[in-house]
Amino acid sequence: MKVLNEFKCVFPAQSANEGLARAALSAFLIPADPTAQELADLRTVISEAVTNAIVHGYRGSEGNVSLCLRMLPERVIYIRVSDKGCGIPDVARAMEPLYTSAPEEERAGLGFAIMQTFTDSLHVRSSEGAGTVLTMRRRLGGQPDD
Ligand code: ATP
Ligand code: MG
Repeated sequence: MKVLNEFKCVFPAQSANEGLARAALSAFLIPADPTAQELADLRTVISEAVTNAIVHGYRGSEGNVSLCLRMLPERVIYIRVSDKGCGIPDVARAMEPLYTSAPEEERAGLGFAIMQTFTDSLHVRSSEGAGTVLTMRRRLGGQPDD
């Protein structure tokens, strides 16, 4: 797939950096002229993905979160968020709405459901002890630029 633009960054798994990921996404998307709704949706998506990497992947231990944003043809936005944390033992179960492994932290178990709702595709690759890679795509509405 032809990549029209790309932005990659790596940052430590600290909750302060969730805002950094949202800001990077916003800055990356602005030239594509997304609607306010599209921007809000995708900011939510990246927050959920990065928060999961930080709170579940690393669980307070040190590590890095990698972010890759791509603009693909047909105004498709590609978002990849990956961690080298604990991994997900049962991805299908983890993706069920309301499933959370951290109910004591008052988590709702809705992060994956939200990401699925706000994207056209969501793919999770994870292995226990090695980490998790999340890839998502969303096509922006409106007319392609050219
Ligand atoms: P909420 O997102 O509503 O605060 P949550 O994070 O528990 O709650 P989801 O985001 O749907 O809910 O994630 C479901 C479960 O998948 C998590 O509870 C966790 O067990 C697992 N999980 C998600 N992302 C990761 C990750 N990057 N590394 C390890 N486990 C993960
Ligand atoms: Mg979550």
